[in-house]
Amino acid sequence: MRTLLVNARVLSPEDPGATSLVTDGAVISWVGRGGAPGTVEATVDLAGALVTPAFVDAHVHATSTGLALQGLDLSGCTSLAQCLRAVEAHGRARRGGVVLGHGWDETTWPEHRPPTRLELDRASYGGVVYLTRVDVHSAVVSSALLAAAPEARAAEGYTDSGHLSSEAHHLVRRVARESLRPADRRAAQRAARDRAAALGVGAFHELGGPDVSSEEDLRELLALAAQEPGPDVVGYWGQLDGVRTARDLGALGAAGDLFADGSIGSHTACLRAPYADADHAGHAYLSAAQVRDHVLACTAAGVQAGFHAIGDGALATVVAGLREAAERAGVTAVRAARHRLEHVEMVDEAMIATLAELGVVASVQPAFDRLWGGAGGMYAERLGLPRALTLNPFASLAAAGVVIALGSDAPVTPIDPWGTVRAAARHRTATQRVAVDVAFSAHTRGGWWAARVDDGGLLRVGAPATYAVWDTGTHTGPGLPALRPDEPLPSCLRTVVRGRTVYEV
Ligand SMILES: [Zn+2]
Repeated sequence: MRTLLVNARVLSPEDPGATSLVTDGAVISWVGRGGAPGTVEATVDLAGALVTPAFVDAHVHATSTGLALQGLDLSGCTSLAQCLRAVEAHGRARRGGVVLGHGWDETTWPEHRPPTRLELDRASYGGVVYLTRVDVHSAVVSSALLAAAPEARAAEGYTDSGHLSSEAHHLVRRVARESLRPADRRAAQRAARDRAAALGVGAFHELGGPDVSSEEDLRELLALAAQEPGPDVVGYWGQLDGVRTARDLGALGAAGDLFADGSIGSHTACLRAPYADADHAGHAYLSAAQVRDHVLACTAAGVQAGFHAIGDGALATVVAGLREAAERAGVTAVRAARHRLEHVEMVDEAMIATLAELGVVASVQPAFDRLWGGAGGMYAERLGLPRALTLNPFASLAAAGVVIALGSDAPVTPIDPWGTVRAAARHRTATQRVAVDVAFSAHTRGGWWAARVDDGGLLRVGAPATYAVWDTGTHTGPGLPALRPDEPLPSCLRTVVRGRTVYEV
């Protein structure tokens, strides 16, 4: 089926003034101006709308995102008291079912602390409650959930208040997840894909792993994506020694949220010097030798390795491991595997140079800077201002030749591709801003490159017909809108994945 789009502003390297595009089934067969050569079965008049490659969100947790969309969203709570009222109301509505909530952030509350286990017991009338912090690296749980995971009491990160991090958190998370029925999980995954499609996202990377999800979760999501229309899903499985499991699951790499450390908000990111507001330097979950061996195993198998690394201590370890792997396997082999790192927040110039040399992709989340960067932000509270201002150096990464892929880490921050592009272009540290077209490219081509698709994310002849149609408001000229802070972001009119419409207003 040949379809002609006319009267559009088509963002294409073939012709900067293109107004028309023909798709033939799943691929683009012509880009130009006015009418197309040959016959077409359908013509769609886009009334001046902007047509761009669809976005690629390079870091998503689909089931948790869907649960947050459908479940108890605590991100809007402005106080501890409001959070507890929300838990009580949700528990009543679910008639005593499990309460899974997400998004609390005690740093913005007047009480400046999360709820306690006993407060959750009262609010839920003794029910099972699991509430993740906004960064998902710690949680508060009720006594009933703790009773179902008794090992957590002896694990690292346990506190009797019910606020759990590191190993204790991982143990209760598993139990909370297992309380989900398969039908609930499927509904959540559908909700996440539908939301992504409605925002012009044509593909996302699902970062699964034994600590953040489960093998069934990833297997079912990839099967769902193969069966039902929606954004493409690129799977990752973040497990040390996980090459075979990653392959069995159909994942592209043993990469993603394979944790070298935790997060800054939860004081679990591994730093070289202690936190400004705590008497320790966080947690290192991996050694350089473990990183090296994992990278070597993945490189030999021809799959991607990758790690979650946020603090400068964790990043130094990961970079040292990558360097040792390159010394054994050779720089060419390591580059060919195209390994990737998630977050890469506290990275210095020397580490950046190594990432560039070894062809490692930086999968970054500009919304972290928008939410937590700057002089009055959480990063400054945790690290002190001088260190906080060095975080998320997008311009330095780009200038060194590190390929950047943008993502949301949903549900840590919502899927919001234009907001993500704007956050990178309006970085709170002015010297680390990148141009809108650079950020846009990182959220389209960069995402495909990170998934080892070299030439994805461009509207040209022979490319997949994966695009989005946008209402750009007052911006009616060619090219991308400037994304000024006082202007509304473009709104999605239609999303098409390999010739198939997956969203339409
Ligand atoms: Zn993640």
